[in-house]
Amino acid sequence: MSKIEIIPLGGIGEFGMNCMGIRYRDEMIIVDAGMGFPEESPYGVDISVPNFDFLEEYRDDLTAIILTHGHEDHIGALSWILRKFNLPVYSSRFTLSLAEKRLEEFDMLGDVMLHRVKPKDVIEIGSFKIEFIHASHSLVECFSLAIHTPEGTLIHTGDYKIDDTPVIGPPYDLKTLKRIGDEGVLALLCDSTNSTVPGRTPSEQAVVPAFEEIFEETPGRLFVSTFSSSLHRLQIIFDIAHEFGRKVCVIGRSMQKNVEIALEQGILKTGHELLVDLGTARSLDDDEICYLVTGSQGEMRAALWNLATGSYKGMEIEPGDTVVLSARIIPGNEKNISRLIGHLYKRGANIIEEKRRLVHVSGHASQEDIRIMVETAQPRFVVPIHGEYRMLFRQKEFIKNHVAGYDDHDIILIENGNVLEIDQHGAQVVAKHDLHKTFIDEESMDEIDYETVRDRKKLAYGGAISLVVTLDKKTHELIAEPQVSFQGVANIDPMNGFGRQAQDAIRKAITDMKREHIVDRSYFKENLRVELKRFVQREIGTKPVIVTTIVEV
Ligand SMILES: [Zn+2]
Repeated sequence: MSKIEIIPLGGIGEFGMNCMGIRYRDEMIIVDAGMGFPEESPYGVDISVPNFDFLEEYRDDLTAIILTHGHEDHIGALSWILRKFNLPVYSSRFTLSLAEKRLEEFDMLGDVMLHRVKPKDVIEIGSFKIEFIHASHSLVECFSLAIHTPEGTLIHTGDYKIDDTPVIGPPYDLKTLKRIGDEGVLALLCDSTNSTVPGRTPSEQAVVPAFEEIFEETPGRLFVSTFSSSLHRLQIIFDIAHEFGRKVCVIGRSMQKNVEIALEQGILKTGHELLVDLGTARSLDDDEICYLVTGSQGEMRAALWNLATGSYKGMEIEPGDTVVLSARIIPGNEKNISRLIGHLYKRGANIIEEKRRLVHVSGHASQEDIRIMVETAQPRFVVPIHGEYRMLFRQKEFIKNHVAGYDDHDIILIENGNVLEIDQHGAQVVAKHDLHKTFIDEESMDEIDYETVRDRKKLAYGGAISLVVTLDKKTHELIAEPQVSFQGVANIDPMNGFGRQAQDAIRKAITDMKREHIVDRSYFKENLRVELKRFVQREIGTKPVIVTTIVEV
């Protein structure tokens, strides 16, 4: 028998960018192809995708992509992987609709094979038999996967929580999970996002009382901002708005798009003429309208930011408005959200946040949900996935200390780029690859290479020095003073003669150089760069980016 290889390309030890290769012999499937939001964002990189070049070595083995659900951090990189490897994609109807929209933007829809599957479906892809288990989460039509191989069964949870009373769709399908668990599960790859949170994650229904109170007590206009994909939440707002006699107007492209698809597919349901367009909404009295808006993370291009800063088509937040932020803060967005709230307060709005009222619940499993998952699936091994290292570690600690039958060596912590070999006898990391993520420019959607981002980082920390040296084309002699200029270099006082000293150092270096080293211009250029670098480091102790230009006259 061969072993199964588990190779995460993203999503382990970081938030987002979920993607994993699962290989058996010479066949490999990919689970999810998500986007990430890298910490390099101050350097002009808004998104990242997994390093799919790494999959080149498995090109002949790749057979399919399976998507667990439609969140950006699970499907956002689909167009990038499909451009490199044209593989069939399997997922639920709703997830594929979201994926289609993305592929359409890249004009790729004609070239890809999308296969729709339903809960409990079992598909065969080579040696893999994949069973789709209905999972509850903040989005709809989500799956956990049972991946059957000749060597044993893996359960990949996807994102999940054990919600007994979701707003849309049935509860998590624990019955199917139990059946598979009873048949024997080799490993459980389990979402760690909320593994630091004790207890059970509240049901999607848990926000209903707070929203009923808010609708009851709000006399003026009501704005509710949530993730555009939180369909359970949107349905709750629709229902309560209807109950309290308010119409609903959806503002923001991504939310309008999702609502449109979900209405079309009968996932969202609205009462009679509940949804109105902006023109109609503005003609209604203040207590007759509820606006659903994007931008709960303080995104500067989203509707709520524009409303809060007076830059939305003739409409803005005014005194007497109530704004509900019905979302959690995604790590990294704290500052933007804080600025957004500042703008809202300045305009006299009343703000209701998660901290003060139960207007948001998580879509991820807390510790007691994880316990239910492990006890139902009864795996031989647990591999924590989806989350920063702290969360993976805490999942391991929780299971070890609170679920009977699991010891240290039954719960395996892995990292992106690891190759985890697993079979009935054991689980072991046999290789560790260093995977740089691929950075994407959000404007052009083009790749930005790793070196460019590294240079930008260096520029931000150390500034730049440019050196221009002018030589006689024939005699190779210096015919002007070397020009040195500084941009954003700390500890430099233009009055203290540092520029002059740098000039002197360069002139001396050129005088000391052998003629043949000057004649070879690229060698000469590199030498000058190194000389100037050493000089600056010695004198002021920083490492700016140095740009050298040779002018020949
Ligand atoms: Zn998700």
